[in-house]
Amino acid sequence: MSSPPGRKERGSILAAKEQTGKAVLVVGGAGYIGSHMVKALLEGGYDTTVFDNLAAGHRDAVLGGRFVQGDLADTATLDALFAAGRFDAVMNFAGSIQVGESVQKPGLYYRNNVANTLNLLEAMVRHGVRHLVFSSTAAIFGEPVRIPIDEEHPTHPVNPYGRGKLMVEHMLADFDHAHGLKSACLRYFNAAGADPSGLIGERHEPETHLIPIALEVALGKRGHLSVYGEDYDTPDGTCIRDYIHVSDLCQAHLRALETLRRTDRSLAVNLGNGQGFSVREVVDAVRAVTGHAIPLKIDARRAGDPARLIADSTAARDHLGWRPQYPGLQDIVRHAWTFHLNRAVPHPLAQAA
Ligand code: UDP
Repeated sequence: MSSPPGRKERGSILAAKEQTGKAVLVVGGAGYIGSHMVKALLEGGYDTTVFDNLAAGHRDAVLGGRFVQGDLADTATLDALFAAGRFDAVMNFAGSIQVGESVQKPGLYYRNNVANTLNLLEAMVRHGVRHLVFSSTAAIFGEPVRIPIDEEHPTHPVNPYGRGKLMVEHMLADFDHAHGLKSACLRYFNAAGADPSGLIGERHEPETHLIPIALEVALGKRGHLSVYGEDYDTPDGTCIRDYIHVSDLCQAHLRALETLRRTDRSLAVNLGNGQGFSVREVVDAVRAVTGHAIPLKIDARRAGDPARLIADSTAARDHLGWRPQYPGLQDIVRHAWTFHLNRAVPHPLAQAA
């Protein structure tokens, strides 16, 4: 079913393959969440094809299936991909993810996250592929007016990143109405952790996320962790976030895909653990798991950071039958730490590509 890890098909178009009913195109499958999704799909017996421009992703993070290097901006390549692939569904993880950068470079975000997704939707319509699982975000809600955040919470995004993702959600409703393209919009809260194997994990360059930065301090790659604000209206003064294990997130995608195929109806759900942890609680977990001190420096608040973001995950549980397997912060940090240690001593599979 799958090619061995490391096999290269850069820029090539797929050979036509048999219709299995489980052929999934994973756009952005070489990135953090996408690469975990590919592993989960392969384990679920799906036939996967990754399409990724490798601008932020890593070829060696794609542990199996086909790989095509390409860009959603290139509609001719997209057409050839769809013509050869005969996909049953698409998952789209591609896009830019830094809120701060989106404020500085809105054009980049509207191009990568909105215009390129439009190219993908139009290619799906041209080639009769009707099911899409889309990576949305809690940032579509903006500053929360109530906690936990359910699906009925008002959407008032406060930055181009959140606005772009919300635009795509609106586009998807229109494409459903006009073309019968059914989608599952999954609004991620704070994706974190790594596959328990330690083979794949979070590798952003530059890294801006709390847990990997704290682990880089533990590894001695950084001298301290900057805490962005200690004067929030929370019990310890630091921001509270809902950290969801990346493997749990991917299991929710599998459920969403199965639900889409079974019901042929679009859906949108929030994906979090439903519990919040403060920056200080995360740092305590990192200290406990790594045994390192993690020196802190209290810094100014980061622009656009709400005090609390916690998901109401009732809909994901009720409609998708999803339950997180790793809701505890210690598991999330421990798996991320295993990955970071493996990266410090490169794994043989990582050499193969
Ligand atoms: N954070 C921090 N120091 C850092 C990185 C993040 O204090 O070096 C805080 C950030 O202000 C937020 C939380 O950690 O409250 C999670 O931030 P992250 O960037 O990981 O995810 P986000 O919530 O922005 O999606």
